[in-house]
Amino acid sequence: MSRQRVIVVGAGAVGIGVALFLQGEGLDVTLVDRAEPGQQTSFGNAGIISVQSVSSINSPDVFRKLPKLAFSPTSPLRIRWRDLPWTMPWLLAFLNNCREAPALRSSLGQVALSKASGEAWRVLLQRHGGNDRVTWPGWLKLAESKAEVASLQHERRRQEEEGLHAEWLDADQVAALEPALAPRFAAGLWLKGNGQVDRPGELLQHLVERFAVEGGRLVADEVRDLRSAASGVEVVTSRRSLRADHAVLATGPWSARLARKLGSRQRLVAERGYHLMLPQAEMPIGRPLYVADTGFVLAPMGDALRLTAGAEIARIDTPGDETRVRGCLAEVRRWLPAAATEVASSWVGARPSTPDGLPVIDRAPRLPRVVLAYGHGHLGLTMGPLTGRLVADLIRERPPALDLTPYSAVR
Ligand SMILES: Cc1cc2nc3c(=O)[nH]c(=O)nc-3n(C[C@H](O)[C@H](O)[C@H](O)COP(=O)(O)OP(=O)(O)OC[C@H]3O[C@@H](n4cnc5c(N)ncnc54)[C@H](O)[C@@H]3O)c2cc1C
Repeated sequence: MSRQRVIVVGAGAVGIGVALFLQGEGLDVTLVDRAEPGQQTSFGNAGIISVQSVSSINSPDVFRKLPKLAFSPTSPLRIRWRDLPWTMPWLLAFLNNCREAPALRSSLGQVALSKASGEAWRVLLQRHGGNDRVTWPGWLKLAESKAEVASLQHERRRQEEEGLHAEWLDADQVAALEPALAPRFAAGLWLKGNGQVDRPGELLQHLVERFAVEGGRLVADEVRDLRSAASGVEVVTSRRSLRADHAVLATGPWSARLARKLGSRQRLVAERGYHLMLPQAEMPIGRPLYVADTGFVLAPMGDALRLTAGAEIARIDTPGDETRVRGCLAEVRRWLPAAATEVASSWVGARPSTPDGLPVIDRAPRLPRVVLAYGHGHLGLTMGPLTGRLVADLIRERPPALDLTPYSAVR
């Protein structure tokens, strides 16, 4: 019997995770991307494998914080007002999901994926190598103000409820763990289970090379359409037509048009974020840090610090504007005096964000031989391998490793 053929469209953290797990099942897999694999959104993130993500972007707190979030010039959230005619339906759906009951659903759906993601990453690294690029130093969240200390305490309780390993640190303990920090922080919460990828773009490149060495096919082309074909699927690209038994749509923030055509009801927005690379002669911190009061992350990455910030609601093709992320630099140096003053490079990308913060992992309602795997928002690097495992369950028609109801395309 010939092997089942699957075409995976999109070679980001999600598509690569999917391709490798399908290949691991003995399927004949083709990975199609119009750009270099792993070099779009999945290239520029903070590299955190966040297996302890208990707080979702959807929270009733958003209503209290909204005026400041939307209008303060230093807010990590920025709404591009000119793009509002396109982004307004998403924003309204997002706010709707910040009410108590839907926000709780989002949080639970996120926790289920986040918790199971560490194991999926370990399986992937064990099979394909790349362990030298991943460490498990945890993630330190820091708070200066009373309000953020209270938020961290709330998060600590949620971590305990979920049976996760989080250690509360007072000011002295923060200083002992990260001595290069200025003594500004009242408290810290050390999420000890989280991992960190050193330069995600390079790790993903390595994984794609392994995929090819193990017999996977790579196609550099733009996919324009996915259609039903005799006992399978036709994937129409700019230059050819490819046939397979199944296809997977994993095109990250560019998924909206094809996903809608295939019957998904989930809206998608390009929630942009930025990074700046600060070269360091010596690395001043031992693990990624998140400063709750200003909402940015600083992560060791090779011989540089990567500062990531920003949640900008805009159209995907609106030009980036680094003003705010550069504005964070003065703040970074106030709490980490050893941080470099030079910016070696900068980057802008777009998180594929749904209004309830959860991805779509489901058969396409109008073409069930296509599996939708997009919308991973703030956690696509974390959830890529697990998504691969779940997509393999759907294609193999096995009961999935997790209940996929929260990630339905028609939720
Ligand atoms: C500043 C920032 C920090 C972040 N930090 C973290 C973090 O620490 N941890 C974490 O887990 N997540 C983080 N994220 C989120 C994470 O980066 C994303 O969720 C993830 O990269 C999305 O992966 P993806 O594979 O869905 O999309 P992408 O990586 O964008 O991949 C999609 C691919 O599809 C291709 N494509 C699109 N359309 C077509 C088409 N028509 N034909 C062919 N190819 C196509 C693209 O070229 C691209 O390669 C962060 C994001 C940002 C912006």
